[in-house]
Amino acid sequence: MDYTSNDLISILNANTSEILSLMAETNSLRDNNIITYSKNVFLPITDICRNECGYCTFRKDPNSDDAIILMKPDEIMDIIKKGDLFNCKEALFTFGEYPDETELVLSALNSLGFENILEYLYFLCNETLDNTRLLPHSNSGILKKNELKILREVNASMGLMLETSSNRIMETIAHKKSPGKKPELRLNTIKNAGKLKIPFTTGLLIGIGETNLERIESLIELRKIQDKYGHIQEIIIQNFKPKPGIPMESYREPSIVEMIKMVCITN
Ligand code: SF4
Repeated sequence: MDYTSNDLISILNANTSEILSLMAETNSLRDNNIITYSKNVFLPITDICRNECGYCTFRKDPNSDDAIILMKPDEIMDIIKKGDLFNCKEALFTFGEYPDETELVLSALNSLGFENILEYLYFLCNETLDNTRLLPHSNSGILKKNELKILREVNASMGLMLETSSNRIMETIAHKKSPGKKPELRLNTIKNAGKLKIPFTTGLLIGIGETNLERIESLIELRKIQDKYGHIQEIIIQNFKPKPGIPMESYREPSIVEMIKMVCITN
C-alpha cells in the first residue's frame, strides 16, 4: 500500500492500540519470519573526526590519552584474521570524517607510507580480500564520486547514515559543529553510490531534535533515491542515547513506542 506523508504523520501520532494493529499489518508484509544478520569485526581505524556532533561518543580529542590516532596494519589484520577463525563475514572499517585533516593522523599515515586515509583504507580492504574470507564494508563519511569509485574496487558494500534530511538540525546542538552533517552532502554521497551501483547501508538517527514531519521527509528522501538507483540494502533506524559527558547528555531519548512507530513506517 502507498502511504502519503499525512498517513505517515497520523501513524506517528497514533495511540498504543492503533500501533498494535499497525505492527500486525507490518508483520504481514514480511515474506517470512527469518531475521538475518552479519557477523562482523569492528575496526575503528581512528576515532579522530573533524565534526563534533552533540551526541557523539565515538570521536576523541586528538590530544586525549585514550584517542586512537591510527590503528596499525598488523593490529587490524590480527583482528580480521581472528574474525575469520570465528566465521565472521564482514570487516567493518570505520573512522571519523576527514581524520587526515588532523596533523597527528596525517603524520601517522605518512610514516606508514600513505598520503591520506582513503589510500590506507584501500590498502587494508585489499589485504582483507587477499588474506581472509571476510568482505570489506567501509563507513568513511561523506565521499566524492571518484573516491567512491576507487573504494568500490575493494568493498562488498559501503555505508553512510543520512541521520536526517533536516537543514534545521544544522543550527542545533546536534550538528552545529559538524559541517559534514549537511544533508545535501550526505544525500549526494548516497546518490553517487547509487550511480556507481554500490550496495549501500544508510539510515536515520532518531531523537536528535527532529520533528515527526522531518523524520518522514528523511525517509521519503531515501525512498526517492532507492526508487531511482535501487542500491540501498539496509535502512538502520537508530535511537539517540544520552551518555554522560556528551553535549546532549540531558536530552530525552526516544521511547520504545516511538521507535516501533518509526520501524513500522519504514517497512
Ligand atoms: S561525524 Fe559526528 S557522530 Fe560521527 S564520529 Fe564524527 S563527531 Fe562522531
